[in-house]
Amino acid sequence: MTHEIQLRLTPEIAYEPERLKQTISKQLGIRSSEISGYRLLKRSIDARQRQVMVNLTVRVYIGEDVPLKTVYETVEYPDVSTRNEVVVVGAGPAGLFAALRLIELGLKPIVLERGKDVDSRRRDMARIAREGVVDPDSNYCFGEGGAGAYSDGKLYTRSKKRGSVDKILAVFHAHGAADDILIDAHPHIGTDKLPGVIKAMREQIIRSGGKVHFNTRVGKILLDNDTVTGVSTAAGETFLGPVILATGHSARDIYHMLDDNHIKIEPKGIAVGVRLEHPQHLIDCIQYHSKNGRGRYLPAAEYTMLTRVDDRAVYSFCMCPGGFIIPAASGPDQQVVNGMSPSNRGTRWANSGMVVEVLPEDLTDYEQYGNLKVMKFQEEVELNYFNESKKSQNAPAQRMLDFVNGHESKTLPETSYAPGIHPSRIDKLLPPFIANRLRKGFAEFGRKSRGFLTNDAVLIGAETRTSSPVRIPRNNETLQHVEIKGLFPCGEGAGYAGGIVSAAIDGERCADAVANYLS
Ligand SMILES: Cc1cc2nc3c(=O)[nH]c(=O)nc-3n(C[C@H](O)[C@H](O)[C@H](O)COP(=O)(O)OP(=O)(O)OC[C@H]3O[C@@H](n4cnc5c(N)ncnc54)[C@H](O)[C@@H]3O)c2cc1C
Repeated sequence: MTHEIQLRLTPEIAYEPERLKQTISKQLGIRSSEISGYRLLKRSIDARQRQVMVNLTVRVYIGEDVPLKTVYETVEYPDVSTRNEVVVVGAGPAGLFAALRLIELGLKPIVLERGKDVDSRRRDMARIAREGVVDPDSNYCFGEGGAGAYSDGKLYTRSKKRGSVDKILAVFHAHGAADDILIDAHPHIGTDKLPGVIKAMREQIIRSGGKVHFNTRVGKILLDNDTVTGVSTAAGETFLGPVILATGHSARDIYHMLDDNHIKIEPKGIAVGVRLEHPQHLIDCIQYHSKNGRGRYLPAAEYTMLTRVDDRAVYSFCMCPGGFIIPAASGPDQQVVNGMSPSNRGTRWANSGMVVEVLPEDLTDYEQYGNLKVMKFQEEVELNYFNESKKSQNAPAQRMLDFVNGHESKTLPETSYAPGIHPSRIDKLLPPFIANRLRKGFAEFGRKSRGFLTNDAVLIGAETRTSSPVRIPRNNETLQHVEIKGLFPCGEGAGYAGGIVSAAIDGERCADAVANYLS
């Protein structure tokens, strides 16, 4: 017999298995020895009141074994080695999930990825931190797993399609992600665990008869009038079939190629700002209302901030509790930062992007760049930072209160950012329409959350890769490009996703659309 129950407990009970079991037995009015086991179905932390509580949904097994296999969906992957081929450009979450879904649907994915496999890629990222050298095909944005591979691996999304989200989590779980991702309200995998999961997904694609080609940069879409026939690579190889284009928000050469070949694209809004880094202990104290921080049981605290200043959103983005700031440039002449965290979220720092919405109509000085005007603006911000840093990845930084008050920071706090930081006037380095809104936003966040606006926190570098600066328009029903048949713009780079889970969902949707197209 099974029972599903809801519990609201203090962390000391929720995170201690023996005490939790006793509480369950009390709630059900049975002896603890009668419970053969239990499985957590959902877990969320409620820190709105002084006493932090943990909400749990638990399935309790009485007089029957807890099933060895999880109760969650498992997917069958047939052999597709002799089936119709579909070209998938990019092995980020969108491309990988598209490939796995194609296999489910009996189609053979040919995945083309400009970067290296997820392990070899690690060495190039270490070089960025150590020597400041960015390989334009292998970096934090490019390579197997895409921008999602060396990220925080936060798996929450604002997507309301619960079924689709559960499926994505189940696929990650089936490829090695921990049980917790199926339980936690804010699941995350962690940068130390993600590469193993991605590798397992690639091995599944190959085992089922699909192909994965690394170091294979697509340079051209091949057309027969208004229909795609395939792609050709920078090395001159050709791959034929319908094309899922999932190249992410940093593939600027792809946007140029589409624009140069008159394949319709549109400018799209992004958000630009800085990475903000606090001591994690300070965030724990604020969020858990305790001068002692998070104590023994609670995880590193998170926050989200959002306001509107002068008709534009100012908000925190991709908050990484217990994480690191990393150099996220994807080519030369760029200075960009982003954040990630390990699975234990155990570092001494909390960081988040703090960004201001930028709409295409804000960039009246960039009209001459046409469809690429938002991208051009993004490139210029990154170049200014790069030049200010004497063409290195050592990033400009300013303490938070100094930024708000327009003061130079004489000293800087310790940081997680490996290439290092130097004092700079970020309030002057950012375009005024961004700096002014950010300043007002910070002041408001400080009023809402006492202790948040502090000189113990530091602003670092430019945060510019929040989403794609271009949309590749597609038909809402067929998901094909509005003018080109057989071309499926997909994921974040096409403007249809923002984050790992939504990119993965879009990958699956595009695979379904290709199956419809072929039938
Ligand atoms: C450091 C960092 C941390 C992040 N943390 C999180 C997080 O915790 N949670 C979250 O939800 N999101 C996070 N994100 C964002 C998330 O990674 C992206 O939203 C997601 O990866 C987008 O998926 P995608 O498949 O659409 O594109 P991408 O992941 O960008 O993948 C695109 C792939 O295409 C390849 N490619 C590009 N051009 C070509 C070409 N011409 N030929 C062949 N291949 C090409 C690239 O090498 C890349 O592998 C983070 C991003 C970064 C950079």
